[in-house]
Amino acid sequence: MDFDLTEEQKMIQDTIRKFANEEIAPVASENDKKAQFPRDIFHKLAELGFMGTPIPEEYGGAGFDFISHAIVAEEIGRVDSSLRGTYSVQVSLVELPLNKYGNEEQKKKYLPKLTSGEWIGCYGLTEPNSGSDPASMISTAKEEKDHYVLNGQKTWITNAGLADLAIVYAKTDPEAGARGITAFIVEKDFEGYSTRDLHDKLGLRASNTGEIFLEDCRVPKENVLGEVNKGFKTALGTLDFGRYTVAAGCVGLAQGCIDICKTYAKERIQFGKPIASFQLVQQLIADMVVECEAGRLLVYRAGHMKNKGLRNTRETSIAKYYCSEMANRVAYKAIQVHGGYGFSGEYDVERFYRDARINTLYEGTSQIQQLIIGAFELGIRAFT
Ligand SMILES: Cc1cc2nc3c(=O)[nH]c(=O)nc-3n(C[C@H](O)[C@H](O)[C@H](O)COP(=O)(O)OP(=O)(O)OC[C@H]3O[C@@H](n4cnc5c(N)ncnc54)[C@H](O)[C@@H]3O)c2cc1C
Repeated sequence: MDFDLTEEQKMIQDTIRKFANEEIAPVASENDKKAQFPRDIFHKLAELGFMGTPIPEEYGGAGFDFISHAIVAEEIGRVDSSLRGTYSVQVSLVELPLNKYGNEEQKKKYLPKLTSGEWIGCYGLTEPNSGSDPASMISTAKEEKDHYVLNGQKTWITNAGLADLAIVYAKTDPEAGARGITAFIVEKDFEGYSTRDLHDKLGLRASNTGEIFLEDCRVPKENVLGEVNKGFKTALGTLDFGRYTVAAGCVGLAQGCIDICKTYAKERIQFGKPIASFQLVQQLIADMVVECEAGRLLVYRAGHMKNKGLRNTRETSIAKYYCSEMANRVAYKAIQVHGGYGFSGEYDVERFYRDARINTLYEGTSQIQQLIIGAFELGIRAFT
């Protein structure tokens, strides 16, 4: 077992860490307060190759491995979870499934646009009445000559209002449940496609979230992603990519909390001493460090398995479940270290605390992760 990063991974870590500190962190709070997406930073990340970290170079990606992919998510998440969410969706939920399930023509057509940052992508699975149970979706896709006609609504879609391209799931065989779902690549200019932004979120305020409306939306047959009626498999395979960067982003969020708390605890004086000298404050910080480092190892284990091409649904779920709950515990403690000041929007830990909350909800709630892990352990699926 080798716990060392390679020279290439260290170089990537140095580059993205510097960029996060110098370009993302200084504007993260303002973007959160104004609920504005930093498109300029998105483009700069793309210029550095970080909007295609694990995508092969022939499709405009950087061709790096999955540990590097986690490092990028971690370093962005260390300073700005909103932007980390955009990174996760663009790379993990859109590019990686295109790369895995797309045909050569689709990859050549769409991946370079996405990896270069020219296009933004989104992943449309959730519907108003279909969240944890995606097989219950009611969006439909009817075959007609050389195209499909899609009807339905998707909600809570990250990047919906910004996206040039959406991977959308709909039922091609409504009677067949999970076996009747197909994935489609839908361009925003396709007839019958529209979006509406959602506002007033608890966290991730600088990230765009919206609804997608499909009203007789005509999608050419060549834009079916993967096989017809096999979309459920594509959706679950995609979540193995997405959950991985959520977990990595949570490690980053926890590390960000730790870094901020270390500085604050040394500066804040009570009882004539820095609060860092009190054993109970050290205990808070020690617990944060232990949990963060345990989470990082779980993420890297899942990444190691992805690099080897091994099935990693179990390990990715374990990492996502642990890291998302861990980030919430760590952010809670970070506020405790800051006392009343942590309750103020002037301090970054307040944003981190709000941003931590989403991670136990999206890409499968903690309960869904527990059921996945439970099914692996017991050989009994709690849901079909
Ligand atoms: C900010 C944000 C961004 C998002 N981005 C995207 C995106 O880009 N693309 C996308 O497709 N979706 C996205 N989502 C949707 C997200 O994935 C869903 O919210 C999530 O899957 C949960 O579904 P739900 O909200 O319908 O909750 P529900 O499924 O209704 O769950 C409600 C509660 O019931 C529990 N529950 C449900 N079923 C079971 C069960 N069998 N056993 C035990 N407990 C259960 C859940 O754990 C939860 O506690 C986003 C959501 C948010 C808030």
